[in-house]
Amino acid sequence: MVSALPVSLEDIRAAARRIAGRVVETPMVLSASLAEIAGAPVWLKLEHHQTTGSFKLRGATNAVLSLSPAERARGVVAASTGNHGRALAHAAKAQGAVATICMSRLVPENKVAEIRRLGADVRIVGRSQDEAQQEVDRLVREEGLVMIPPFDHPDVVAGQGTLGLEIIDAFPKVATVLVPLSGGGLAAGVAAAVKGVTPKTKVIGLTMERGAAMKASLDAGRPVQVEEVRSLADSLGGGIGLDNRVTFAMCRELLDGVVLLTEAEIAAGMRHAHACEGEVVEGAGAVGIAALLAGKIRSGGPVVAILSGRNVDMEQHRRVINGEGAAFAEDNP
Ligand SMILES: *Cc1c(COP(=O)(O)O)cnc(C)c1O
Repeated sequence: MVSALPVSLEDIRAAARRIAGRVVETPMVLSASLAEIAGAPVWLKLEHHQTTGSFKLRGATNAVLSLSPAERARGVVAASTGNHGRALAHAAKAQGAVATICMSRLVPENKVAEIRRLGADVRIVGRSQDEAQQEVDRLVREEGLVMIPPFDHPDVVAGQGTLGLEIIDAFPKVATVLVPLSGGGLAAGVAAAVKGVTPKTKVIGLTMERGAAMKASLDAGRPVQVEEVRSLADSLGGGIGLDNRVTFAMCRELLDGVVLLTEAEIAAGMRHAHACEGEVVEGAGAVGIAALLAGKIRSGGPVVAILSGRNVDMEQHRRVINGEGAAFAEDNP
């Protein structure tokens, strides 16, 4: 029995109406190469073709559009240097609001420039992500900016859920949906949408073997901290927050399982996406393909794998495609 969760199918349908025309409805394509391996039809949801290069634009756009006019006038703020930062910068600018993105001095200049190009006001503070977050907290406290977090917020989760709606409305016969999993905003939203329409569809979270905070938290029965380790799937790093309010409960209630992938498996997923599908995806976006290739998915019917993002350093991508060893030495036996 699904108890009252923080985000409902109705919330996700409302988000879809709100963001319509402001995000791309990404295509879903059949993969012949993966169907052979999986023994079932496999569809790829090409969400890495989303504006700003990841699904994060859905949640950020829904969150910005859900603000009151007064809140929107005060501006939004976050500490992400990755896909959420890009998405929030773009979403705010598109709605005529100012996004302030706080970053540490250690963030590479190209990342800073990208987020600036998307229209954000970038603040460089301190020498760590923690110090950047302290600046966010200060701006919220002293200047009244509105923080939009990367996953643990009902409007963000509802926005990410619109991706699940697109899948299930187009393809109600899907047996298994494969979702990249980090903080759980995408998995919670997609699972709420998919199971809201077809309760029997399985939703599986996919993440890297080391440093998987949601997996460790689900195993422990409460949010726990894990040591962060470098991974090819860098967008899947980071904790879920010890005071998690939304995504932990939803993932616990709605996910049918979590599959863990090694760095070598993630690299193989990226290579397959490139060689067999002609797609450049980042490590986090390749985990669905990786799990299928590794034989870690058993599905009695059609599978949809979400390719969640494409923002990868092209030099790193080239090394992975050329099979120049595992990206990180510690992955080698
Ligand atoms: C953020 C992100 C994820 C994980 O999403 P969560 O909502 O944090 O679980 C997966 N893939 C990409 C490309 C991302 O940017």
